[in-house]
Amino acid sequence: MSTVTTAAQPDASGHFGTFGGSFVPETLVAALDELTAEYHKAKADPEFQAELKQLLAEFCGRETPLYFAERWTEKLGGAKIYLKREDLLHTGAHKINNALGQILLAKRLGKKRIIAETGAGQHGVATATVAARFGLECVVYMGAIDMERQHLNVVRMKLLGSEVCGVEAGQKTLKEAVNEALRDWVTNVRDTHYILGSALGPHPYPMMVRDFHRVIGVEARAQIMEREERLPDLLIACVGGGSNAIGMFHPFLDDKNVKMVGVEAGGHGIKQGEHAARFQGGKLGVLQGTKTWLLSDDDGQIELTHSVSAGLDYAAVGPEHAFLQDAGRVDYTYATDDEALDAFQELAAVEGIIPALETSHALAHVKKIAPVMDKDQIIVVNLSGRGDKDVEQASKYLLPEEE
Ligand SMILES: *Cc1c(COP(=O)(O)O)cnc(C)c1O
Repeated sequence: MSTVTTAAQPDASGHFGTFGGSFVPETLVAALDELTAEYHKAKADPEFQAELKQLLAEFCGRETPLYFAERWTEKLGGAKIYLKREDLLHTGAHKINNALGQILLAKRLGKKRIIAETGAGQHGVATATVAARFGLECVVYMGAIDMERQHLNVVRMKLLGSEVCGVEAGQKTLKEAVNEALRDWVTNVRDTHYILGSALGPHPYPMMVRDFHRVIGVEARAQIMEREERLPDLLIACVGGGSNAIGMFHPFLDDKNVKMVGVEAGGHGIKQGEHAARFQGGKLGVLQGTKTWLLSDDDGQIELTHSVSAGLDYAAVGPEHAFLQDAGRVDYTYATDDEALDAFQELAAVEGIIPALETSHALAHVKKIAPVMDKDQIIVVNLSGRGDKDVEQASKYLLPEEE
């Protein structure tokens, strides 16, 4: 039996077991070391923590409610379902927890310029928002196809004073946007901080991004204890890079009776190029600074991915999830586009809450599992974001006669 607990990761060099680490060009090593050192100092600094806590409360709207989905529970006829309402946060998703934490760090580091990558635009909007709040210059890299698909978020970022830089390379989506952001960072590392948007990339990002999202699980734990006087039986969250899921799961990892399921994007089904479920047929490899499960072909080339939700459409999963799967602590499954769209519609109609399409993958799993659980069991699902951004896309699938 190993003495290393699942909650005590990563080690000093950023390894979660055999996963994680830092695979970057020489020019970034010093910047990542500086960031790691400053992060540890900030974490232990009561002033930093107090400022973060106050801004999370007054600027972002924490704490978010833990909401009992009474009608949905009744409809599914099994376990009690609670929703952790990250969708109610400023800018509409959990992403601002991390963007805010990182911009406070950038300020401590004396950086004057912020860069970020974005897929659906949610992380770009969160970053542009905190950059505006602190008066820092901000450039967001976004694939040209994503700019078309998520035009509204492009306009939001521009209104917030950020420059949106379209990326024409490759698949013109998130992976290429990350490449461009890394390229910019290598060139401008002296005055620039890169606010990476998920629990991915080189050390210290997976650890640091996780820590900024731990507030989700810390709050949910206190809230369910107050409400039910016991811990939940099951936690469910969707997994793109894995930041909302790890934020929810991490504070419960040492509670061995709390089961956890991460839900990846099954797209059109588990066929090459048609999904983004890295634990279904993925391979161990290195992508964009970290060693983890990813979707690649036999030559090690990154495969195309597909999901109805841009936020889950990425070829690699955060290294801590790879570790937790390997350790048998968290189970990973997937939901297809159709299952997610079905859950999207159901939550809206039954609870009056329109969820993000990303989140709808977690909800699709609730629909499968809640009915086969006992009525006295409890599920907490992370409602990672709201679906306003997805309404137009969903209408194409759900209301074709409107087109
Ligand atoms: C970006 C996003 C995700 C996926 O990112 P993670 O890092 O896996 O959390 C999930 N839900 C919403 C609402 C998002 O905006």
